[in-house]
Parts: sequence; structure tokens; C-alpha cells
Amino acid sequence: MSAIDTLPPLRDVIAKHELSARKSLGQNFILDLNLTAKIARSAGNLRDTDILEVGPGPGGLTRGLLAEGARKVVAVEKDARCIPALQDISNAYPGRLEILEGDALELDLTKHLTAPVRIVSNLPYNVGTELLTRWLDPPAWPPFWVSLTLMFQLEVAQRITATAGEKHYGRLAVLAGWRTDAQIVMELPPEAFTPAPKVRSAVVTLNRLEQPRYPANGKILKDVVARAFNQRRKMLRSSLKGLRPDIEDRLIAAGIKPTDRAETVEIERFCALARELEKS
Ligand code: SAM
Repeated sequence: MSAIDTLPPLRDVIAKHELSARKSLGQNFILDLNLTAKIARSAGNLRDTDILEVGPGPGGLTRGLLAEGARKVVAVEKDARCIPALQDISNAYPGRLEILEGDALELDLTKHLTAPVRIVSNLPYNVGTELLTRWLDPPAWPPFWVSLTLMFQLEVAQRITATAGEKHYGRLAVLAGWRTDAQIVMELPPEAFTPAPKVRSAVVTLNRLEQPRYPANGKILKDVVARAFNQRRKMLRSSLKGLRPDIEDRLIAAGIKPTDRAETVEIERFCALARELEKS
């Protein structure tokens, strides 16, 4: 029995179901249920909210989310070995945990969820950025979720939350900052996980904005930002010259010096450039 519920400690769950961690699935488990409850709390108010959790593993974070009052948790797990352990949690919280076995990159998860939805996950490192990019770039805005609370390697968390001029500023920061308020809410040392990864980790919370922060055509913005950061050390007049013959004039019209480099340009200016490019 643990402090947050009447289920057995996670070490016992892992031993009972023989859940030795698999590197290929990005398995670094959090066994401290007080920590998982704290992560769940950092996602905001969970009551009257459906939670999507990708990669519940033996269920530490899942238990935190349920103990903190989530209306329902939809948990998607690729590793079939974890399903019986998750089933035990579902039995302890009747009707509040839906377990889906499969690959989160393949399944249509929205049909299992009712608004408001928050996504809270200790993501497998190998699919984390891909999932985040998809959640940040849906076919229409606002998306099906109101917030994302996600564990990443610290460096990835810094790439999501960086602002112009900072070392980690790049495509991910522009994508996240354009349509969400993103911040690191917690840092964790390697020892918080079993097995311990090589690097520190961090929890990032991204709260969606109802409208993008600045108007821009998303497709054009993504194209501009991809080209600009692809050659981040080059001046924009050169990294973007393939876009348009009059790119220098467009940059100036958007309030950007043609000699600036992508890493110093704020999201507002990238959006202004996207609008300039759309005009003609
Ligand atoms: N949530 C647990 C915790 O905090 O202890 C486990 C987190 S572990 C970092 C990542 C989990 O994601 C593993 O259980 C792994 O099996 C699962 N996983 C890996 N790839 C996945 C995918 N494509 N779809 C769903 N789950 C996946």
C-alpha cells in the first residue's frame, strides 16, 4: 500500500509483472508516487477533466493523476507486458481508467476523450518530439487539448521554452511559443528514474492560447522558420533567399534586418514575415 492509494508500491508491481525496463521503448520509470502526484498537480486542475497519458508503463503517473482527481484517464501503452498492471489500477478506480494497447503515433485518441482534455505524460524519449510537434500543429486551432504537461530531457525542455537570443531558441520554441504559453515547471535529476538516464529531465507545461499569439498562415510560418533555422548561423537574406527574389525587401517590411540571424528574431517578427510573404 502506498501513500496516495491502496495499491501496492511500484517496485512490487514491477516485480510481480516482470517489467524489466526496455531501452528500445524509452522505459525510464518513476517509482516515487509522491513525485508522480506532484507532476499530476503541476498539470493544473484535473477535476472534471479527461487526461490523455501516453506511455503509462507500470502506472506511477497514472495513479498520481487518478489520486489527484482526474475525471478519466485514457492511457495508451505500447508494451503489452504493462497492461495487466494497468488493469489492477483500473479495478481500483472503477470507470475512470481506459487502457489502450498500441502505438500512440498510430491510434486516433481523440475519439476516446471528452472536453476539456489535458495531456500529461512522461514521454518515451524516442517519440516525444514527434508527438509534441503533432499536438502543436493540428489541422485546426484551437486543438482538442487545453494543456500539455510533458516530461522531456532537460535540453529538449529548454528548446521548447527558449526565447529569441537564447542558446536553445529554434523551430520548436517558435512552434510552441506561437500558440501556447510554455514553461518548465519542474527539473528532475537522473536518480528520479529507474533505470537512471544519463541526463537531467524537466516537466514542461504548455497552456494553449485560444488564438495564435500573432496572426500568420501556419504553413508559411513553418516553412520560413524551418529554412531560417536550418542554417541558423547564416544571415536571413542568405538562408531565405530561395523563398523569394525580393526577400530583402520582405524582411525589411517585416521589421527584420536582412543581416540578422534566425536565432535573434522574435516570434512576432517571424509572423510579420509570414504575413508579408502571403501578401504577394
Ligand atoms: N509513465 C511511466 C512512468 O512515468 O514511470 C513510464 C514512462 S517511460 C519514460 C515511457 C513509456 O512509454 C514506457 O512505458 C513505454 O513502453 C511507452 N511507450 C514507448 N513508445 C510508445 C508509443 N509509441 N506509444 C505508446 N507508448 C509508448
